[in-house]
Amino acid sequence: MEQRNTDCDRDNLQTALRRLPAVDQVLQSERALSPIERFGRPAMTGALRDTLAAVREEIKAGTAPPSADAIAERAAALLETADRSRLSPLFNLTGTVLHTNLGRAVLAEAAIEAATMAMREAVALEFDLETGKRGERDEHLRTLICELTGAEDATIVNNNAAAVLLVLNSLAAGRDAVVSRGELIEIGGAFRMPDIMTRADARLVEVGTTNRTHPRDYADAIHDETGLVLKVHTSNYRIEGFTREVPAAELAAIAMEKGVPLVNDLGSGTLADLAAFGLAHEPTVREAVAEGADIVTFSGDKLLGGPQAGFIVGRRDLIARINSNPMKRALRVDKIRLAALEATLKLYRDPDRLSERLPTMRFLSRRKSEIRALAERLAPALVPVFAPDFDVNVIDCQSQIGSGALPLATIASAGLSISPKDDSGTRLAGLSAALRRLPMPVIGRVERGALILDLRCLEDGARFLANLSGLRAEMGRPTDDADR
Ligand SMILES: *Cc1c(COP(=O)(O)O)cnc(C)c1O
Repeated sequence: MEQRNTDCDRDNLQTALRRLPAVDQVLQSERALSPIERFGRPAMTGALRDTLAAVREEIKAGTAPPSADAIAERAAALLETADRSRLSPLFNLTGTVLHTNLGRAVLAEAAIEAATMAMREAVALEFDLETGKRGERDEHLRTLICELTGAEDATIVNNNAAAVLLVLNSLAAGRDAVVSRGELIEIGGAFRMPDIMTRADARLVEVGTTNRTHPRDYADAIHDETGLVLKVHTSNYRIEGFTREVPAAELAAIAMEKGVPLVNDLGSGTLADLAAFGLAHEPTVREAVAEGADIVTFSGDKLLGGPQAGFIVGRRDLIARINSNPMKRALRVDKIRLAALEATLKLYRDPDRLSERLPTMRFLSRRKSEIRALAERLAPALVPVFAPDFDVNVIDCQSQIGSGALPLATIASAGLSISPKDDSGTRLAGLSAALRRLPMPVIGRVERGALILDLRCLEDGARFLANLSGLRAEMGRPTDDADR
């Protein structure tokens, strides 16, 4: 009896498998037309093979065989998922405005237009329209940067890490670079100052101790073999307590007396006085130049709010040496980013309208009352979206600038707290994963058993709500992220 049943099952199984349509058959079906049109026949063929292989396994496990249309549908869904760009837009509700993992600054409309134009058309990148001769790539921006920073000259490279590398190699290859022990930073990833020194062929000379460095420590370390003195803005930490650092102005005097250049790596470096936007003061590039640094380096996509880039500004003779280093060619910036940078920098000519036109400044200067009002407007619509398993509450929270600007400073903000009713961490992880799978992924932060959505960077509430309509379906799916 038992035996016969199993035989019977096996026959049914064989019949079900035989009845499955062949790849070619599904390719001819009505449902396959639009994915073929969109992704091409070879891609659809591959997706169908994968789908049929999966379906065969499911049938063996006891599932009923699907129709040809259902198979085409599944293959199309596979192609859709694979087609989704890693760089498609998302909602940054982490509360970190300049989030390095989420692409740092969101660009100003003027910058987007300029970059788009430069992509579409030929431009006078290294061509002097007046003389008709070859021109300088950075020329367009030089005047503007000098105007905004008070520096004598400027040059631009791929990012600030490249700026530091190029400066060290140009001014201190085979020579000493003197830096305080308290400033030997690691920015994240593999960017550690001692390693960069080695790669730049500069000899690191550490002075002082972790917590205290005195003027005489620098003075004693500088001699004939010294290429430069480096000051690094400790952008992602603070040393507090019994500390002493030599201010840039004092250090500039020491370096000048000894006849070696002082390089100040500001990291974020801002062109605007953040205090005017209700934030804590962060050293501006103009101040760093005025304090007597011979070279100042800073990023394009941190507080400046532009595309990724590294600025090197300062003394004309030093910039000339930096520009003549063959490494500069390997670190240069393309026309698209130069166009976006120029448009971004131009916005700084009118500080009064900066917070209106530059998203980074708009987000950073947004008042808590405005953000809280948005949270209160959205909350009632969100309660049914997250019911019955989660509570939705409007909360006060703290945003951060991010990307190593004012590491300890937080900005009063507001948002939504989504907390599981049963206090379950698993449920919370499932929710976070479902939000990441939405057409526009929503990225928040988990804090004390709740998912916090800081609304500082959310401007389009309606778009946010519309995007959440798919959440229920996503929550039903397994939290396994393997298919992404
Ligand atoms: C961020 C930072 C860098 C690196 O700049 P990128 O633009 O990320 O390459 C270097 N130095 C300091 C002090 C920084 O804060």
